[in-house]
This record gives sequence, structure tokens and C-alpha cells, in this order.
Amino acid sequence: MNDKKNFLVNEIIEIDDNPFDRQERIRGWDQQKLRNSRVLVFGAGAIGNETLKNLALLGVGHIYIVDFDTISTSNLSRTILFRRGDKGRYKAKIAAQRTKNLALEDSAKVSWFHGDAVWDLGTGIFRHVDLVLGCLDNVETRFAINKKCYLVKTPWIDAGIYELGGHVSVFTPPQVPCYQCGATEQQLKAARKRYSCDDFKRTVISEGKMPTVQITSSLVSAIQVQEAVKLLTKQPVKSGKKIYFQGRTNDFDIISLVENKNCTGHDSYPEIISLPLKNSVTLKTFLEVVSENHFSGCNATLDFRGDRTFIKSVSCKSCGVDIKLNKPSFRIFDTETICEVCRSNNVKFNQDLSDKPSTRSTVPTFSLAKTEKHILEMTLWDIGIPYRHILAVCDDAGNYKYYELSMDDPFSEVI
Ligand SMILES: [Zn+2]
Ligand SMILES: [Zn+2]
Repeated sequence: MNDKKNFLVNEIIEIDDNPFDRQERIRGWDQQKLRNSRVLVFGAGAIGNETLKNLALLGVGHIYIVDFDTISTSNLSRTILFRRGDKGRYKAKIAAQRTKNLALEDSAKVSWFHGDAVWDLGTGIFRHVDLVLGCLDNVETRFAINKKCYLVKTPWIDAGIYELGGHVSVFTPPQVPCYQCGATEQQLKAARKRYSCDDFKRTVISEGKMPTVQITSSLVSAIQVQEAVKLLTKQPVKSGKKIYFQGRTNDFDIISLVENKNCTGHDSYPEIISLPLKNSVTLKTFLEVVSENHFSGCNATLDFRGDRTFIKSVSCKSCGVDIKLNKPSFRIFDTETICEVCRSNNVKFNQDLSDKPSTRSTVPTFSLAKTEKHILEMTLWDIGIPYRHILAVCDDAGNYKYYELSMDDPFSEVI
């Protein structure tokens, strides 16, 4: 009799001590799987704030946050994690600190990265997480995330909002259709808006301000994270569909996306070799390592394969003079392609000029034998290789191997 009484008391204490008791009662729930999960969240804006809060309260073990922006006053009505005094601070860092505060277990880890999701984070980052969540307001980053997720077969869930509506789509590579399959002409055009016609960064971008409200972002985030829980706990999830909600009329639709046979978003790496290197090593050091016999052998050639473009020089858009750049195209601003001569002659830079292509000299492949010495002395980062990237290297016989820079860890963990 006494034993039974003690047992009941113990059970009650245990339930009260377990913050996840109620959710663990849900059919198919697996708290341990959530505890062991690594989830990478792109965007700490309206949807991102809600999603991070949800992941923290659910008990996800390791949350990674990426954003390039700083907090502004107009964000505050849609962001549960930000406060008035946060203006001007990094969204990723503050979101990470507050997410960590919300986490219910000491073992929960939260890491952040302040930078460009398209160009600063390599494919290897995507390889080492269980799931990627897109909480974004732009098409360019969605394309980039989609491509990297397919390359390393990591599932991702896109969420978007507009006025009182929103949508969520789950993608589980190698299954198609992917996000890019369903892209419209308008989206493809929108993905290029940061760049001039020759891939340089526009100095002036007309940024539209989206009409959004917190009630929509919390709704869409809830659907996104519910799909995330199903994926992480190995429950069935329908991929390649767009869950679409229109709040004005309360229409809830599920739209099947259609595979595009010509889509370039489905490639995946056959095998990935981890190299104990960072992108801060010189190109020469990297090529020396992959030229070892047990890797790609002598004459190993790093091939960008159209992934990015290294520009040696361009002709001035105004007078045609050669301007030396030696940078990846995404770090070149369109104003840099006007030479000192023109500037001193007071030729004014204008938008029309930035849309005129200039002739340019690019380097698509790099090898110890053929690449110029001053380029070999540059670091991988300087030639445009992001953190923890996976690089394609061709050997003498034309066979490719894929190497991950496995020592890069650009994230900071909240202590
Ligand atoms: Zn596709
Ligand atoms: Zn000029």
C-alpha cells in the first residue's frame, strides 16, 4: 500500500518536472529525436522569430541561425525575440541569445552567423544539419538554399507571407519537384535583382517593403514547424506541395508543384571527401593537398563549374580601358567597373551605364601549373570560396572528386 502511494507521488513530480510532458503524449511524438536534431534557420525576421521560438519551446537540440541584417524599429511589431533597445544590432546574434533563453534544457545549443546566405556559407554547412528552414523574404536565397539542399540531400521547408496570406512547402531531396521546378519567370527575374547584367552587385537596389503582419507570420511559422516536427521524428510528410493559406477568405489549398524536366536544381554529390582545411588557406596550399596521389594526383584542377565567377579584369564601361579586379563577381560593385580616367573626367555613373555589359577576363579553373602566381597566393575566401564549401576537383583523366573544407565553422555558439 505504502509502495503504491510513493510511486504515485514520484510520478506526479516527474510529470511536473518535464516541460515536454504534454507534447510527448501526442501519437508518434519522439522527444529524443527532437533533442538530437540540428536545424538550420535562414532569416531571423517575422517568420524566423516565430520559428525560432517554436523550435526552442519544442526542445530541438541544436538550432543554427543565419541572417545578414540588423534590427530596425519597423521589425519590432513582428518579432517576439527583439526589444526596443536592440535597434542596429545583428538580428542573428540577438535572435540566438533570446532563443537560447527560451530553451527549456541546459543542453540545448543555439549558434548564429551574421552574413550573406547565398555567398558566405558553403554546401558543407547544409550537409551537417538534419533540416533547413527558410524564413525568407527573397527568391534569390530560396534558390541558393534549394540547390545546396539537393546537392547534399538535406530536406528543407520554405515559408513565405504576404498581407493576410502565406504558404509553406516541404522539399525532401532527392525527391522532385524542387523549389526551382515551380519557379515563374517573375521569380527568376526577382532572383537577379541584386545584380547587374554582368553579375556585379548593384549599388542601388529599389527595395519594396512587403505588407506583412505578425498574425500571418505566426500562423505560417506554426505550419512550417509542424511539418518540421513530422520530418524530424520520421513521420510521413508530403513533399513537393505548396500549402497555401489566404486569410482574407480563409481559403486553405494544397497545390501540387510540377516537376520541370529541365530544372538545374537536382544535382547531388556522389561522394564527399573531408579535408582538414579552412577557406583561409591559400589556393596554392589547397591545390598542393588535393594534388597528393591518394586524392586527385598531380595536375589536380579546381573547377568552379559555373557555381561562381572569378574576374581578373573588365573593360571600363565608359572608355574601354582595362581595370584589374581579381575578385569574385559577387564582391564587385557595378560602380567599380568605371575607371579612374573616366572618374577624373567627371563621367557620371548612372543606372543605364550599369546595365551595359563590359568585356571581362575570368578564371574558371585553377591548377598549380597553369594559374598565375599572384592568384595562387590568394586565400580560398579571396577567390570566392565560402565557409565549409564543397569543391569540385578534376584529375588528369577528367574524373571529378568533391572535397569539403571540414575545418571551417563560421557559427558562434551562445554560451
Ligand atoms: Zn527542380
Ligand atoms: Zn574609363
